[in-house]
Amino acid sequence: MPELPEVETIKNQLIPILPFKIEHVYFSPLTNRLVKQRDFDLKNHTIKNILRHGKWLIFNLSPSGHILSHLGMSGSWRTSHTPLKDKHGHIEFIDYTKKQNGVLTYVDPRRFGHFYILSAENFKIKEEQLPIDVSSSDFDEDHIAEIFFRYPNKILKPFLLDQKAFPGVGNYMASEICARSGILPTRLIGEISADEIEKIKKSIGIVVSGAIETKGTTFSGGYVDANGSKGEGVKHLVVFYQNFCQMCLERGKLTKVIKTTLAGRGTYHCPRCQK
Ligand SMILES: [Zn+2]
Repeated sequence: MPELPEVETIKNQLIPILPFKIEHVYFSPLTNRLVKQRDFDLKNHTIKNILRHGKWLIFNLSPSGHILSHLGMSGSWRTSHTPLKDKHGHIEFIDYTKKQNGVLTYVDPRRFGHFYILSAENFKIKEEQLPIDVSSSDFDEDHIAEIFFRYPNKILKPFLLDQKAFPGVGNYMASEICARSGILPTRLIGEISADEIEKIKKSIGIVVSGAIETKGTTFSGGYVDANGSKGEGVKHLVVFYQNFCQMCLERGKLTKVIKTTLAGRGTYHCPRCQK
């Protein structure tokens, strides 16, 4: 599933093709299910800028309006010089003025992605409902403490996957955040100290930026970035999918990583580094 770093990577790869004038619009018959709200016809609107919020891509349009794009399990936006003709290409925009990368295609084999095409007014309402993004400067220790204070009985690692609290954090990132914070994934939120909250804040920063640097991580589902290549984020992982804890290895110690299933999701931790 594309997580925050993958979505950020796709965003960064689309920025160079902007502004992009949507002179031709194609929606496959299957997109009726994907497009949840369509306030206006996109034709002749120009994509001026693209932002990321959690796992959402937000296309800002000129003269007005926005596209909110959630990539679901396997969605991606691809750029190409000529139409992709991919059988999973569900949305196609063409800017005929461009000699290169004039075609923008939304490809989604599993079709769990979704879209909102919103007027400025309706976008404002939607935007207010979006929680603070984990990579935003507002997502600080105080904000984490406030969230934790409200849910003392939750278990740390599954709680990190709650998209209303930690938008953009996915399964491998949650294991990595616990590991880098030195906290067991099974710990109760109510028992996490202020010092540990500081560590969690730092770890979120490291995991998010490390993964963005290497263009995200692919384990399954078939995420590809806007150029059609898979991420290499696996190089940065300290426990997830690792036989031995990479933090211990750095200190010359060999500790086997323990794999468990927590709230139905594969979870990895180091028994030496995490308390
Ligand atoms: Zn370790």
